[in-house]
Amino acid sequence: MYEFNLDDVLLNSMVKSARRIILQFPDGLKSYALKIADEISNRIAAEVIVSMDPCYGGCDLAVDDAKRLGADLIIHFGHTEFVKCSEIPVVYVPVFFKFSLKDLAKKFVEIWGFRGAVGLLSTVQHIENLSEVEGFLSSCGVPVHVGLKCGRVKFNGQVLGCEVCGAMGIADLVDGFLVISGGDFHGLGVALSTGKTTYVMDPFRGEIRCLDNLVMRVLSVRWNNIVRARESKSFGVMVGVKPGQCKLNLALKVKRIIESSGRKCYLFSVRDFSADLTLPFRDIDVFVSAACPRIAIEEAEAYGKPILTPYEVKIALSGSMNPDDMRGILNEEFE
Ligand code: SF4
Repeated sequence: MYEFNLDDVLLNSMVKSARRIILQFPDGLKSYALKIADEISNRIAAEVIVSMDPCYGGCDLAVDDAKRLGADLIIHFGHTEFVKCSEIPVVYVPVFFKFSLKDLAKKFVEIWGFRGAVGLLSTVQHIENLSEVEGFLSSCGVPVHVGLKCGRVKFNGQVLGCEVCGAMGIADLVDGFLVISGGDFHGLGVALSTGKTTYVMDPFRGEIRCLDNLVMRVLSVRWNNIVRARESKSFGVMVGVKPGQCKLNLALKVKRIIESSGRKCYLFSVRDFSADLTLPFRDIDVFVSAACPRIAIEEAEAYGKPILTPYEVKIALSGSMNPDDMRGILNEEFE
């Protein structure tokens, strides 16, 4: 189902000279891990260790594991480079989905009709599907704009859960978005940030889904959290410690602004976020995640008390109730 381009990986001089390698895969690719480990072990002398831990993005590098286990290289499959790692060399290997999506493109055209121009994006796995879908939509008379490479993305059309600059760059040109991805995670980021109707083309379920209802549900939870935070006195800012999620400066700024509003604020360090970790800290009314900006959005209901992004702290403390403010929900600037 996927193209791993292992021949190219094994030609990389860092791979050829490595003595011990940690392989990282997102959960959706872990079923290929043993085959890949065999292939690498058979073709180079390095010892190969497969990381079992969850791997949510290019931000999530097994640097500590590599140091502890004496590995001199990480090969990180399934994501593009997100963060420069100075401690251990990292080879990022994007992995591409190999099947045609023409039938799903046809389904989308039937649903979309002639509502206007479509902004087209995909996760890195489906980058090679973009030209086929774009071509089919155009041949059916649907104007298409593909998001351009920007920010932390490496390909035209690519979207990350925390990086939707490709969508923002074409939002004024389109009437809605189509995001090719398994699950709603990436499409939701596009919909929240642009305010435009967004459809997901899900190759794994063979479905086209409109996210309008999901967006309304998420926004109502976000506003509920913001309003509750406004009335709260005690905050906990959680700093991620994964290499691409370590936002200490952001956390310190958030803490300062909370304290200057007369509220109490504590800092916490967290590796793998989970609502259970917050249970012992009963005196904290509101948690703020200074790590992956999607944690607060995806996990909100599990926490049982408000969890905000840093950007939402600004909205909460400003007293704003302007729905348009939520477009910046993934914004990590905090002045
Ligand atoms: S959305 Fe979160 S997990 Fe995904 S790349 Fe961004 S920071 Fe990492």
